[in-house]
Amino acid sequence: MEMRHVAPDFAVSPQLGAGDVGLAAAQGVRAIVCNRPDGEGDDQTPSAEIAAAAKAHGLAFRHVPVRSGAVTDADAAAMAEALAELPAPVLAYCRTGARSITLWSLAQAPRLSTPAILAAAEGAGYDLSGLADRLDARGAGVGAGPPARRNAHDVVIVGGGAAGIATAASLLKRRPGLDVAVIEPQDVHHYQPGWTLVGGGVFDRRDTLRAMHQVMPAGVRRIRAAVAEFAPERSEVVLEDGERIGYRALVAAPGLKLDWDGVEGLRETLGRNGVTSNYLFDMAPYTWELVQGLRGGRALFTQPPMPIKCAGAPQKAMYLACDAWRRKGRLGSIEVEFLNAGGALFGVSEYVPALMEYVRRYGIALSFEHRLVAVDGSSKTATFETPDGRVTREFDMLHAVPPQTGLDVVRRSPLADAKGWIEVSPETLQHPRYGDVFGLGDACSAPNAKTAAAVRKQAPVVAENVVAALDGRPPCAIYDGYGSCPLTVERGRIVLAEFGYGGALKPSFPSWLIDGTKPTRAAWFLKEKLLPPVYWHAMLKGREWLAAPTILPAAPTPHEARDACDFAEPAPAAAEPKPSVLAE
Ligand code: FAD
Repeated sequence: MEMRHVAPDFAVSPQLGAGDVGLAAAQGVRAIVCNRPDGEGDDQTPSAEIAAAAKAHGLAFRHVPVRSGAVTDADAAAMAEALAELPAPVLAYCRTGARSITLWSLAQAPRLSTPAILAAAEGAGYDLSGLADRLDARGAGVGAGPPARRNAHDVVIVGGGAAGIATAASLLKRRPGLDVAVIEPQDVHHYQPGWTLVGGGVFDRRDTLRAMHQVMPAGVRRIRAAVAEFAPERSEVVLEDGERIGYRALVAAPGLKLDWDGVEGLRETLGRNGVTSNYLFDMAPYTWELVQGLRGGRALFTQPPMPIKCAGAPQKAMYLACDAWRRKGRLGSIEVEFLNAGGALFGVSEYVPALMEYVRRYGIALSFEHRLVAVDGSSKTATFETPDGRVTREFDMLHAVPPQTGLDVVRRSPLADAKGWIEVSPETLQHPRYGDVFGLGDACSAPNAKTAAAVRKQAPVVAENVVAALDGRPPCAIYDGYGSCPLTVERGRIVLAEFGYGGALKPSFPSWLIDGTKPTRAAWFLKEKLLPPVYWHAMLKGREWLAAPTILPAAPTPHEARDACDFAEPAPAAAEPKPSVLAE
């Protein structure tokens, strides 16, 4: 069997025998389409036999027979319908594969540009240049299918945050000139890891900001809009104004939703009445203002249920505040309490002893299984749900962290898992049901710590795997779950938590330089002086510092295997012409 990958979700092949179906299933194919009428040639396995073999291997099957050299618009519409309904990836076949690639191309024309279609066919070894006018006509709205849309790209990235920009840069590093579009509604890009230091009086908030056009890699097409709908079955996204954008591969990185309304009264009182949060750019300076102003009374710091972005950030804010009060000699007059919806100070036990040392030093009261449910700014009270019922605390300062969920646009999309995150394989970051979709960053379902540090490692993995998908190869790069949380236990010292899936410690530095389980000055220097430039000038530029992806040895595609054989053998007398629509 000679299976030629055209797109991540589609491949073609010459005539199959019943024995080829199992091979196709083993390569991940989930449905087979036969484009050949029965009885066309003596060498032909009847479609019913292929259908029976497909059923035996658990594959779907569809017969969309087309006469050689006479592919009509009705045939293209029937193929489009089959592709929309069948599970992907689909393997379509005819005598040489040419009718199948022609049908696929015509079916794609309303949503992909003619050059993109011709390039995909060319990549699979088919010259469809004779079809260009017809593809153009269908793309312009002639023929069956949805209304015309010419704006399709090789890769569409949703979200211009840490994950979207880093992936765009890593993609273009690997393949300069690739047609990449980034859809992002905001005109500014934030370095959120800096907000803890803004709230701690170390950074000015302007240090954490760049204009979006400054971080957008050269060569990227920026689309200033928000995605309102993911339509992976049509390989497109729909913008808020209804415009549709098609893709050959999608990278979904829109971040997560800070659910301020998940705590009654919180939104109304944020920024007033002593209520603040480092989770907002505008609010982090207010944290430092409150810390400087508080001379006595009670300060509450809260943490919502997991998962949240930067799980250490709620307590980082607290330690820096306590350190500032200690230096001013006020800590003895301030009662500090950490109220955590979870049951542990930090999810990876190796870092807890060093943190507990600071909890004791600052005299912090710990309350686990306390979930913030309401804030009343005027009476300065916060209410918590606990296993023993609701409790209310008065406060003079409240640092609140909101519950966090998948974005609404993700939750209602076919990309979402049961919990509302973009479902991905934890290792390849590829969507399990839509092979042309990848997800990373805070939005995705991988069970890593949601951090920019994780994104630094994920982006090269996604870039590798997207390039593989565009070439019709399976994913080859693997993400190990790395995430990092620099816990600012005092001004000048950090406990640098670095860990992967299952809480496995993954230190980046030798322990003589930075022992992550202990507070060190070197880790503070890293956080304050090194990581911001690493973010702006390396991660967002495709310079993959300490982030080279693990690449699996690739099995050659049938195409490559054949090419390799051609290379080893004496050159044929005449080059074999590429199958053409006109040739079959
Ligand atoms: P984001 O950076 O949030 O970007 C998402 C982007 O998608 C945004 O630009 C948004 O406008 C866009 N978007 C949203 N909806 C749509 C839509 N419908 N269509 C198109 N675009 C859309 N990480 C660390 O590594 N170390 C730290 O010390 C650290 N500290 C932190 C402290 C705080 C207070 C906070 C809040 C975060 C911290 N993080 C830290 C976490 C880190 O900032 C995030 O994990 C990281 O920014 C995630 O990147 P992302 O691209 O997935 O999401």
